[in-house]
Amino acid sequence: MRSEDDSWEITESVGATALGVAAMRAAETRRPDALFQDPYAEILVTAVDSPLWQRLGRGDYEESVAANFTQFNDFMVARTLYFDAYFQDAAQAGIRQFVILAAGLDARAYRLEWPTGTTVFELDQPKVLDFKAKALDEYAARLTVDRRTVAVDLRHDWPAALRDNGFDPAAPTAWLIEGLLRYLPADAQDRLLENVIAASAPGSRVALNMSGARSPQAKQADGERAKFMATQGVHVDVNALWYPFEGRNHPVDWFREQGWTVTPADPREVLAGHGRAVAAVPAEEMTRHILMTAIRPGGDSTP
Ligand code: SAM
Repeated sequence: MRSEDDSWEITESVGATALGVAAMRAAETRRPDALFQDPYAEILVTAVDSPLWQRLGRGDYEESVAANFTQFNDFMVARTLYFDAYFQDAAQAGIRQFVILAAGLDARAYRLEWPTGTTVFELDQPKVLDFKAKALDEYAARLTVDRRTVAVDLRHDWPAALRDNGFDPAAPTAWLIEGLLRYLPADAQDRLLENVIAASAPGSRVALNMSGARSPQAKQADGERAKFMATQGVHVDVNALWYPFEGRNHPVDWFREQGWTVTPADPREVLAGHGRAVAAVPAEEMTRHILMTAIRPGGDSTP
């Protein structure tokens, strides 16, 4: 159950969801037909002393739940590809300031190619960032960006902490909001998006995703996954951690109303564009998912 100011370790509550997506990136990386490579995902998942997380990171699913996990992974793969391309496009357009809100175990700062002079800010809760720092400490030398972590609660005044760490509100920024919004109450989502807009110089961009209203079948599949994990001593159930979809502002409308140019995307097309066939069940579920990029007109980085 959630509360107004709850916080978490990487293995607990919302923290464990970061492990969940990292495990899926690790599993994809191991596939012979992998659509991206994130070698840091397995390092991070292995750093937790848990046979189940390590097993999920190898994509070694027990037969009774294999289809359930695989279907869930399809969307994670789509969003990883989409946001990787988004960052690369933004860098190509000349943006040098990147902010990952709720970075979790995102290793893009380590694994993507960055132009000289790029800064990547990663914001998340303190204990999540501590875990990541310890697990990736020995790889810091490989970084080709100025990576700065900012420990905050994204329901509160994070822009001040971001500025204190060197964020330049006058420079165009590429923001990433991946796997966050449903973990925020509706009013905290509004505040977060208002803060992003206020800190965005002309030419800035935002990419985000948000789970829509889940079908009864999808909720049941989520519940079955959670039940299986609980039998292995791991407790993570998105249905208990998400705030309702109903009653929220729709991010596509939100950015359009602010005069940004919004381009929604279809996760099924992202996968199809990479030659990955998607089974009917997750494909149907993906139609409910919000995936989009928005660009604030003006500046030199607007296409
Ligand atoms: N974006 C990462 C990814 O896709 O791999 C992590 C996504 S994970 C599903 C959700 C992340 O949101 C966790 O790392 C969690 O700590 C972070 N998060 C959720 N609510 C937050 C809050 N109020 N303040 C800071 N971080 C938060």
